[in-house]
Amino acid sequence: MAVKARRKAVVVDVGGVKVGGDHPIVVQSMTNTDTADTVATVNQVMALARAGSELVRVTVNTEDAAAAVAPIVDTLDKFGVRVPIIGDFHYNGHILLKKYPECARALAKYRINPGNSDIGRKTDENFRTMIEVALANRKPVRIGVNWGSLDQQLLTRMMDENSRRAEPKAAREVTMDAMVVSAVESAKAAERYGLGHDRIILSAKVSGVQDLIDVYRALAEACDYPLHLGLTEAGMGSKGIVATTAALAPVLQDGIGDTIRASLTPLPNGDRTEEVVVSQQILQSLGIRSFTPQVTACPGCGRTTSTFFQEMADQIQTYLREQMPKWKEGHPGVETMKVAVMGCVVNGPGESKHSNIGISLPGTFEEPVAPVYVDGRLTVTLRGEGIVPRFIDILNDYVDSHYAQGADFAPDAAAAVLL
Ligand code: SF4
Repeated sequence: MAVKARRKAVVVDVGGVKVGGDHPIVVQSMTNTDTADTVATVNQVMALARAGSELVRVTVNTEDAAAAVAPIVDTLDKFGVRVPIIGDFHYNGHILLKKYPECARALAKYRINPGNSDIGRKTDENFRTMIEVALANRKPVRIGVNWGSLDQQLLTRMMDENSRRAEPKAAREVTMDAMVVSAVESAKAAERYGLGHDRIILSAKVSGVQDLIDVYRALAEACDYPLHLGLTEAGMGSKGIVATTAALAPVLQDGIGDTIRASLTPLPNGDRTEEVVVSQQILQSLGIRSFTPQVTACPGCGRTTSTFFQEMADQIQTYLREQMPKWKEGHPGVETMKVAVMGCVVNGPGESKHSNIGISLPGTFEEPVAPVYVDGRLTVTLRGEGIVPRFIDILNDYVDSHYAQGADFAPDAAAAVLL
């Protein structure tokens, strides 16, 4: 089954990155440094950008944070890192954006949470102020509803209305409806205050997988704004990764979503870039975008009694990922390459033949040789010491010959045995 045709959203320009329409689904991330700590924030943004984040959000929660934004963007620029920086505002965004005009200018987009603004109240001056600053600086906004901070007045009103219905909906359903209404009504208010229809992105994040699927399907029906997808507060480790994947995959499969983020909780001092890799992996696993060559590895079983095969699969995947910043400049298309590292003869040759390059390692009691397949044909059989570096040499040759700009060289397919 193929991914459904993308829902057609209007295109929003976020600091030069196009979100929506037929543009590729954009991967974004968020720092967890104190934004006022310029050095730490610059370093983390650089790491996230290097990992492939195409937009990076920073919290702008205090005057010190607002004052640090322009120097952060300047410093990144001096290092040649041009990733657009998005400001995340809650409660006091109207004050900070007015008081720190350089911050308002430096940011590529403002994220506004309607539940933490005064939208829907008697007066919505704070929300209006942020929209006016966006207008004055020609910036887009993301209206980001989160069920942890959903507009309680709106929810109460909708719950009351629901209770008067002949057949009231379940409270969960009304809450999901309120998420959609909050996002769409806030966007309409922003347009009333002058912001262009093509300057608005919406999100409606929840932490339950089924809730997220329902709310985004409803949101996609209700509007044509680009949608930012993410399971909020996904959690740590495998729980966070699996929940994010389980939530985002069906929605993406429906053709919904123009930018995504994996909201993973890293371990203390853990690697923040994991959230970028997870987003990329979700898109690549669904066949929507390619970011880095993929290693197909079997799970191993009783036929592989040494750890060599796992170590090799890990070394090859790490090597491929590390090469990508360099390769993507001069080797277009290399990100679609498929590499197989298999544990024994049962599925090794077959899986290897389905890959661009594959190696079938010897299982327990098998002859200690490792046939290598290139484009489905056995080209060489490795044995003895140094299988990993020799396989990497073959990989490098393949990349140079198949993905070099303008290359038309095909590798020698003749079988050989290296002793
Ligand atoms: S390919 Fe071989 S080692 Fe790998 S899981 Fe299958 S039988 Fe086990």
